[in-house]
Amino acid sequence: MASHSTGAPLPTLPEGFLAALRQIVDDKGLLTAAEEILPHVTEQRGRFVGATACVVKPATTQEVAEVMKLCCDHNVAVVPQGGNTGLVSAGIAFAEDRAIILSLSRMNRVRNLDPLNNTMTVEAGCILQNIQDAAARVDRFFPLSLGSEGTCQIGGNIASNAGGINVIRYGNSRALVLGLEVVTAEGEVWDGLRSLRKDNTGYDLKQLFIGSEGTLGVITAAVLKLFPATKERSTAFIALGQLEDALPLLSLAQSVIGEALNSFELIPRIGMDFALKHAQDITDPLAQPHDWYVLLEASAGTQQANLPTLFESYLELALEKGWITDAALAQNTAQADSFWRLRENITLCQKAEGGSIKHDISVPLSVIPAFIRKANAAVEAYLPTIRPYPFGHIGDGNIHYNLSQPIAMDKDEYLAHWDALNRIVHDIVVEMGGSISAEHGIGRVKLKENLHYKSPLEIRMMQQIKQSLDPKNLMNPGKLLPDTRK
Ligand SMILES: Cc1cc2nc3c(=O)[nH]c(=O)nc-3n(C[C@H](O)[C@H](O)[C@H](O)COP(=O)(O)OP(=O)(O)OC[C@H]3O[C@@H](n4cnc5c(N)ncnc54)[C@H](O)[C@@H]3O)c2cc1C
Repeated sequence: MASHSTGAPLPTLPEGFLAALRQIVDDKGLLTAAEEILPHVTEQRGRFVGATACVVKPATTQEVAEVMKLCCDHNVAVVPQGGNTGLVSAGIAFAEDRAIILSLSRMNRVRNLDPLNNTMTVEAGCILQNIQDAAARVDRFFPLSLGSEGTCQIGGNIASNAGGINVIRYGNSRALVLGLEVVTAEGEVWDGLRSLRKDNTGYDLKQLFIGSEGTLGVITAAVLKLFPATKERSTAFIALGQLEDALPLLSLAQSVIGEALNSFELIPRIGMDFALKHAQDITDPLAQPHDWYVLLEASAGTQQANLPTLFESYLELALEKGWITDAALAQNTAQADSFWRLRENITLCQKAEGGSIKHDISVPLSVIPAFIRKANAAVEAYLPTIRPYPFGHIGDGNIHYNLSQPIAMDKDEYLAHWDALNRIVHDIVVEMGGSISAEHGIGRVKLKENLHYKSPLEIRMMQQIKQSLDPKNLMNPGKLLPDTRK
């Protein structure tokens, strides 16, 4: 799994195909030069470099429909692409995919903002952060929030059913979408842009496209749910007595702070060490080092929620129970932001310590500590000097169970253990009733693992859905499901 391109020769496109594409999208909507294509085929961590003959960038739904019709008529496969921040190589074309890339980045308009209905209708290429900002300008809040929000696009978020830091309260992308506009594999436009909270008129088709990783159709626009803007926010950085205390601490937060609880993130000491060593402008909020921490945040859409008082009672109770040993309560926005900067650097600073073998897993909340301890013991038995690095969205059962390389080992030598370590960790996940991909999806990177663990019946039902919506298997072939083309 080291950085590589597959080396397969680039397929040639049917004669006249590029000229026909150019007619639809004009010169500025078509990239064919290698240096322009490169960023679109390079995975954001640089681990994979794919290949494609062109990147097409339609500017309207109609153009997407014409492009898809052309591709269908010529049997050319298509990889839809958003911000290309995905972590499973789902939005990149590889030479053996024999596909072009369809980038939604020029479709970036907010079509409608309806604060009274608490909805906004946006095009798929809108950057997530711009959507959050547009909602804030009309005193509303769009809760989807991830480390990549400055570059990822809402179409990519929806297609990968992104999670992030506010899932405990608001759910993942699936829960935030009321309607979709989709261009089908055969180039028809499905207008499902309903802004309704109740609509019992048959199969909920939008749910098929959410989380489908571009394998069923191209999402061109979406109706999103909005919420009252945040008026009060409280953030605490807490040292745990022991890992196991995270669970009663979460239950206590849910009963004392209640529905206002947005985020409950686990941070291990090794993460703090990496962030303090490699990131700029980071300080330890607490005086002494501790083995485990939780970053907890609550917010309210009114100024009467009294969150600081609730937080103080909560921390006092937790201290009395012995579940926490120290805590810092943010006194202002700057301090709260600094806690979150620390959390973001837990993700980013791992890279500076060499190779990392990653697992984005979920297990039932009640077994998370047991999972971490069991997985740590198993990977350390396999490679004693490995550095387990479990962190993330413990409040919704999702741990990024990453494994940093042994200090003295060569990076490539370490990454050669990728498949073996995946199997050790995923076996434990599945045995504990969990999922091998909680929020990042399957893409190309986890295809084999998913086929290994999912029941043949479940895979067959997924294939039947794909067959009915994409009969020629031209939508992102080889991602999520095996490529069945000859
Ligand atoms: C620093 C960092 C932090 C991250 N944190 C999180 C996190 O907390 N939670 C989380 O869930 N993910 C996280 N991610 C992963 C990633 O950012 C998300 O998966 C994101 O939703 C991908 O959006 P994108 O626009 O970059 O999509 P891309 O990477 O471009 O594509 C992702 C998938 O969606 C498909 N797709 C894209 N656009 C469309 C469309 N319009 N129609 C149909 N299919 C489409 C692609 O074919 C591909 O299968 C993180 C990534 C980074 C780099």
